Amino acid sequence: MEILQAFRFKVEPDGEQRHNMRRTGGACRFVFNKALVLQKENHESGNKFISYVTMVKELTHWRNSTETPWLKEAPCHSLQHSLKDLERSFKNFFAKRTAFPRFKKKGDGCSFRYPDPKQIKLDQENSRIFLPKLGWMSYRNSRKVVGELRNVTVSESAGDWFVSIQTFREELRPATTATTVVGIDVGIARFATMSDGSYIEPLSSFKKHSNRLVKYQRKMSRKVKFSNNWKKAKSKVQKIHTQIANARKDFLHKITTTISKKHALVCIEDLQIRNMSKSAAGTSEDPGKKVKQKSRLNRSILDQGWGIFRAQLDYKLNWAGGMLLTVPAANTSRTCPDCHHVSADNRKTQASFECVICNYSNHADMVGAVNILERGYRLLACGESAKSLSMKQEPAEVSQLAFS
Ligand SMILES: [Zn+2]
Repeated sequence: MEILQAFRFKVEPDGEQRHNMRRTGGACRFVFNKALVLQKENHESGNKFISYVTMVKELTHWRNSTETPWLKEAPCHSLQHSLKDLERSFKNFFAKRTAFPRFKKKGDGCSFRYPDPKQIKLDQENSRIFLPKLGWMSYRNSRKVVGELRNVTVSESAGDWFVSIQTFREELRPATTATTVVGIDVGIARFATMSDGSYIEPLSSFKKHSNRLVKYQRKMSRKVKFSNNWKKAKSKVQKIHTQIANARKDFLHKITTTISKKHALVCIEDLQIRNMSKSAAGTSEDPGKKVKQKSRLNRSILDQGWGIFRAQLDYKLNWAGGMLLTVPAANTSRTCPDCHHVSADNRKTQASFECVICNYSNHADMVGAVNILERGYRLLACGESAKSLSMKQEPAEVSQLAFS
């Protein structure tokens, strides 16, 4: 099993290093934007996409140009990497996954990468790291970095600087000690409902912090833009955003660790999270309906980070020797687990399910979780959905299932 893992630490740069990092971040942004201008002009005049290799040659000209002599002072590989970033943005755009790449703004947050591990030294014993053009820097050594060093990303968040050290290692896939199978339904009222009847309340860190956020955003809007007081309010707003992100990360790590240790197989809906959370504003031809409710839902979804939840479950189950199985999402909340009647009328309210045919009733999220589990069984049993299969509500022994 191949494991790519990132270890993130706060670093303690001196004044000169701080200055250098900000300058490198600026140079990377400059290169990204300059390359984007070229691609944009090229795209608009109907020419072919400029390849990464050609762009790197352009970069050499820019670095040797008398107009931008400061580009020479930035680490070359980091500048090249920002061209890689741009290329990836375009690939996503061509694959219709994202919109046309946008220019990076100064306020977007500073971040750049050292892609060449040969130029990086990590001295864990003395809690320090060596990066090209920066030299040695102390970091808050909170855990051991394992694996072969691949690259380091430097970033700034609310005035603090961080390194994210990515490593690679190969490990034997462990045999799981857990034996149970569970279906999980994710939702707004309950973050996750298990088919065994347990559930996890949402953290909604965003809601807790959102009043403070609104207060400081309002303060910010009342100040003269770019004045000192405006900058102070802005840094406060950024700090609250960081707190929200940290609280969410903590919450998600805790629950995904617990679930992945407890169960050998976890079934979850194959929801298009990106589709659900994208803007519901609509276009002029197709004005979005219920925009307000949708945007509230979107915020909740983003707030609770279902996408991160699923990704974490996937790799943690893998590490534990278990498995995450995604099942088709259609009608999981409308199907009766008892008689399999499918109807929107089965769903009396957001929270309650009552079958119009057989009167089976339960919490709607619980019904979803049970249906998800059943679909997982069907997928494992015959690789497709077979309506005639009966429901199993008890967690079953994994050894009874064929994994092939
Ligand atoms: Zn029924």
